[in-house]
Amino acid sequence: MGCTRLVYNKALALRTEAWYKRQERVGYEETSAMLTQWKKQEALQFINEVSCVPVQQGLRHLQKAFSNFFEGRTKYPKFKKKHQGGSAEFTKSAFKFKNGQVYLAKCAEPLAIRWGRELPQRSKPSTISVKLSPSGRWTVSLLVDVEIEKLPESPNQIGLDLGISSLVALSNGEKIVNPKNFKAKRSKLKKAQKSLSRKQKGSKNHHKARLKVAKVHAEISDARKDFLHKLTTRLVRENQTIAVEDPAVKNMVKNRKLSLAISDASWGELLRQLEYKCGWYGRTLIKIDRWFPSSKRCGSCGHVVEKLPLNIREWDCPKCGTHHDRDINAARNILAAGLAVAVCGATVRPERSKSVQAGARKQKL
Ligand SMILES: [Zn+2]
Repeated sequence: MGCTRLVYNKALALRTEAWYKRQERVGYEETSAMLTQWKKQEALQFINEVSCVPVQQGLRHLQKAFSNFFEGRTKYPKFKKKHQGGSAEFTKSAFKFKNGQVYLAKCAEPLAIRWGRELPQRSKPSTISVKLSPSGRWTVSLLVDVEIEKLPESPNQIGLDLGISSLVALSNGEKIVNPKNFKAKRSKLKKAQKSLSRKQKGSKNHHKARLKVAKVHAEISDARKDFLHKLTTRLVRENQTIAVEDPAVKNMVKNRKLSLAISDASWGELLRQLEYKCGWYGRTLIKIDRWFPSSKRCGSCGHVVEKLPLNIREWDCPKCGTHHDRDINAARNILAAGLAVAVCGATVRPERSKSVQAGARKQKL
């Protein structure tokens, strides 16, 4: 991990200097050639003690980071720091997978893995990544090709609204709320952060407190991911068509009030999971990317009320008298708009998830 980080940082420094001092672009090939030079230097002999594959992969990742930057997708690549953990990627030539054991190149012992799930039968990993999280936890992921069978067709369809009082409101009347322990975890995080702020920088206690903060962060993100995975798997299993509003549109309308119920990251992650799971299992995801009055429109008669302040959770339609729960009504409207779009492609542009054949797909385990 240390060697990968060192070489990555050296190459980043080299590329940065070349650009800012001499306006020269240094690419992957050049950094790879430099690596050969570095390996010959006496002070850097230790690089030869580890497998060259993850080190080389690190340079490829740097190349990727630069192309992402040049194409405007990300910020300028940053130096990697020890306390952030790190990762090392082993391609086929640098590991052996034998009798359910993983042997990495230049490591005598097999990795002591506690498996999260079994590898699919007869699958062979093509890449193995070893990661160290800032909280000090090691994880190993194995990339394998698997056949994913589509689910049998379902007669159900559903609309999702990013709720204010709940995480998600469904058009079938159900409201999904964050698990209760999220709140407790958040106050645990606050406590840990407060304790960290009181410690002197560079001290042993500061280090310990920082580790504690990282651990709570990891706990929260694990719990959130687990919860979202269960939710999206269920939604995809139960429904053939899922309609959602694009979050960018949503944020403009409901803005900061939303952060009470859900962070943007969760909503983004929820959509990401829905998208790929719909692709895997032969479901249709319709994303509505234009604004329309999902909350203010009566789902029964189509009447649009002029104003509906955020604090109003329930309302009666002045035209047809139907009683509405704000978020459920919005979810119903989203479903209706999504279905209309799916049929005629009219006023709101849909973005269907790519319909994917049940062929070989890459899946991270
Ligand atoms: Zn009405």
